Amino acid sequence: MINKKKDTELRNNLLSGDWVIIAPARSNVPRGNNECPFCSLKDQEEPVLIYNNGKVVNDKTKWTTIVIPNKYPVFTPFANECSSEKESCFKMRTPGHHELVITSNHDKNISELPIKRIKEIFDCYQSRIQILKKNKLVKYISIFQNCGEKAGASQKHPHSQIITIPFIDKELQMIISNSKDYFERNNKCLHCEIIEREIRDKQRLVLENNTFIAYVPYAPKFTFQIIIAPKKHRSLFEDIAEEEKIDLADILKKAINKYKKKLNDYAYNFFIYNSPNDNKDHSFFHWYLILIPRIGYMGGFEVGANMEIITRYPEDQAKILK
Ligand SMILES: [Zn+2]
Ligand SMILES: [Zn+2]
Repeated sequence: MINKKKDTELRNNLLSGDWVIIAPARSNVPRGNNECPFCSLKDQEEPVLIYNNGKVVNDKTKWTTIVIPNKYPVFTPFANECSSEKESCFKMRTPGHHELVITSNHDKNISELPIKRIKEIFDCYQSRIQILKKNKLVKYISIFQNCGEKAGASQKHPHSQIITIPFIDKELQMIISNSKDYFERNNKCLHCEIIEREIRDKQRLVLENNTFIAYVPYAPKFTFQIIIAPKKHRSLFEDIAEEEKIDLADILKKAINKYKKKLNDYAYNFFIYNSPNDNKDHSFFHWYLILIPRIGYMGGFEVGANMEIITRYPEDQAKILK
């Protein structure tokens, strides 16, 4: 018998310890429909933030970047009123938020937008993080963009997504724990150390501006993966300064253009690793953005061992991208 329930449920795999999100509402997401739902915004949820030419406005008919709750959310804030308690050690029903950050131009992704438009996307991330982190049930705010069908985008119209999670995922937990260990042993931020080395070394450096660098990691998880990080130590994305947002827009645009020009296929994902919202001190952690082109497919070994086989040296990948 098919389960008629539509609520999102978080289930824990007892063997691996991994959390899985069961979100039946997501099965209704329309794909490749003729009329773009983001150009007109009719039948969409009410916007929570509207930008028009660099300014926050109220008029939802004139916008350059807009934030709306997702019509097909992974989580909804309404579960808030019901319960957030752990039903058991392997199941969680939980409130959350799932929002979309949409830029007005249907045909232009980040690589084609002017810097001031890309900056508006970061303005939206920043102010939504500041609001959403006030909810104490929100332990992490995941921000990402999928561009292209191969990257999992259900709509061609460029948009990014913000999803709040009631815990910190395993991968980020490991990154934070390694950063903390390093800081305790050396009294220095691990990522600051890596950034200094990449700037000195230049072998894997792809781009650099006043406040950001873009480099291929020493041991990347995916071929042509790029990490974009602030050069100065910053633990919280939401503390980003105005001029840093312009530099980030500049370097991200150039990095995506590298994929466009140097790789044939440039479907990509990017996501941000930021400090969690769990009331702990994360001042040792250095936020960063990860950009991944979707070339190739994962085989059995990659999926099973969670370990990518990279066929090109990261130093050579950087050379190609440069
Ligand atoms: Zn559109
Ligand atoms: Zn640092």
